[in-house]
Amino acid sequence: MKKTYHGSCHCGAVRFACDIGLAQGTSKCNCSICSKGRFWKAVIKADAFRLLQGADALSDYHFGRDIIHHMFCSRCGIKTFGHGQTKELGEFYGINLACLDDAPPAELMAAPLQYQDGKNNKWESSPAETRQL
Ligand SMILES: [Zn+2]
Repeated sequence: MKKTYHGSCHCGAVRFACDIGLAQGTSKCNCSICSKGRFWKAVIKADAFRLLQGADALSDYHFGRDIIHHMFCSRCGIKTFGHGQTKELGEFYGINLACLDDAPPAELMAAPLQYQDGKNNKWESSPAETRQL
């Protein structure tokens, strides 16, 4: 079941709403940027995401194959979400679950968690070591 959650960066310049079915799973990845940011995410379709405020404050960081836009607040530096498009997912958003302001901790802890070996481009499999993610 999807629920609407609200999220923000640290300083509050960026605010968003999104519809997430936490029971459908969350993920952590060992790729170069997710591991450095300890990015814990839920992936949702683009139409389940609404930017409420802060388009002018958002900075767009991208690298490598330029597939994902890593969106962070230019004032406080917090990465609130990323978005991109792939053949498999279509247009999607990866929501930083740590930025949700109204998701009860028990709901987040009950959500299934999948580890992804993005470092080796094996997104469907878990890396051998997951404890640091
Ligand atoms: Zn901010």
